[in-house]
Amino acid sequence: MKPPARALVDLAAVRGNVAALAAHAPSAQVMAVVKADAYGHGLVPCAHAALAGGATWLGVAQATEALELRAAGVTAPVLTWLYSPHTDLDELLVAGIDVAVSGPWAFDQVLDAARRTGRTARVHLKVDTGLGRSGVPAREFGALLAAAVGAQADGALEVVGVFSHLAWADAPDHPTVMRQAEVFTEAVRQAERAGAHLEVRHLANSAATLTNPAMHFDLVRPGLAVFGLSPVPDIAGPERFGLVPAMRLEAELALVKLAPAGHGVSYGHAYVTPVETVLGVVPLGYADGIPRHASGHDGVTGAPVQVGHRRVGIAGRVCMDQFVLDLGPDAAQGTGDTVVLFGSGADGEPTAEDWARAAGTISYEIVTRVGVRVPREYLGEAQ
Ligand SMILES: *Cc1c(COP(=O)(O)O)cnc(C)c1O
Repeated sequence: MKPPARALVDLAAVRGNVAALAAHAPSAQVMAVVKADAYGHGLVPCAHAALAGGATWLGVAQATEALELRAAGVTAPVLTWLYSPHTDLDELLVAGIDVAVSGPWAFDQVLDAARRTGRTARVHLKVDTGLGRSGVPAREFGALLAAAVGAQADGALEVVGVFSHLAWADAPDHPTVMRQAEVFTEAVRQAERAGAHLEVRHLANSAATLTNPAMHFDLVRPGLAVFGLSPVPDIAGPERFGLVPAMRLEAELALVKLAPAGHGVSYGHAYVTPVETVLGVVPLGYADGIPRHASGHDGVTGAPVQVGHRRVGIAGRVCMDQFVLDLGPDAAQGTGDTVVLFGSGADGEPTAEDWARAAGTISYEIVTRVGVRVPREYLGEAQ
C-alpha cells in the first residue's frame, strides 16, 4: 500500500555534500556523523553515500546505531560516544567499534569489556573543553589519561583519539571558541607526552568545518551539513558552502473541498476563511514530525508549503495526523495532488530552514523528527 507521504532522500546530494566538506577541510579526514537515523534521512543508505563521497569515518551517538552499521556490512571506522553504565560494550568491541571515554566509570567499563572479550578497545578520550555537556572535565583529564595509557601496556586498550565539542561553533568569533581550542590543544599535548599514539584529534562539527579552519585538526565531524543544511543560517545558506539539501518531504492532498467565507479551520478555529475558498488537507501531522509550532494562528498562516508553483501557509492548527491549507478561491488542485513541504529549494519549494524559522526552531529538529510513518525513498544511488 502506498503511504500518503514520503521523504525523498537524494544520495547523490549526500555524496556531493561530503565531497564539499572534505574540500573545506583539505588537511583533515571527514567523519560523517550519521546519528539519529542520519538526521532522519536513513542510517544505512546515508552511511554508504557518505563513504562514497569521501568520508573515511562514521560517527554515531548510540551503541545500537554503531552495531546497525556493522550489521549492514559497513567496515569503515565507527565511533560511538553516548552510552551508559548499562550498555553492553562487549558487543561493540567485538564489532570493532571505537568508543568514547568521557569519565572514569566509562574507562572502567571499557577495560572490563576489553578483558572479557580479549579485544583491544580503541578509545577516544573526550574532554569537556567548555561545552559543559559530555566529556571529562579538563582538570580531571590528566588522571583519566594516566589510567588509559597505563592500560595500553597489556594491550587491553589503545588511546587512538582525543576529542571535544564546541559550544559556539555557529558563532566563529565567539571568544569561547578559541578558548576551547586552547584547552583542547593542551589536552592533546598532554596525551602525546603521556605516550598515546593518537590517530585523530577532533573538535569541529559542521559549523566549525565550514567556517573555522583553525578547528579542523586532523578529523572533522560534520553532521547537519552532510545532509545539505546550513549550520549557520544567519551567516549563509547551504549554496554558499556548496551544499545541497538532501531531503524532500512531500504528501498527497487527502481532501480538497470548497469552504464558505467565515468558516473556522481545524481545532480551535485558529484560522477563519476570509472569503469563499478551497481547503486542502495534508495527511501529515505532529506525529509525523510536523511541528505544532508551525501552525497558523490569529488569522496568519503558518509554515509554507509548495502547491503547484505557489506557496501557501498552514491554515490553523497542525493536528496529530493532518493539517489544512487554504489553497485560495481559484485553486486548481484536486484530491490526490502532490504538495511539497520542503526540499532543496531548487524548484522554488520551501526548505527545512524555512520550516525551522516558521516554527521557531532549527533545521536539525525539522529533519530529525520526520516520523516513522513517512517512508524514506532513495534517489541518486551510486551504481
Ligand atoms: C551531533 C554531533 C556532531 C555533529 O554536529 P553537527 O552540528 O550536526 O555538525 C559532532 N560531534 C558530536 C560530539 C555530536 O554530538
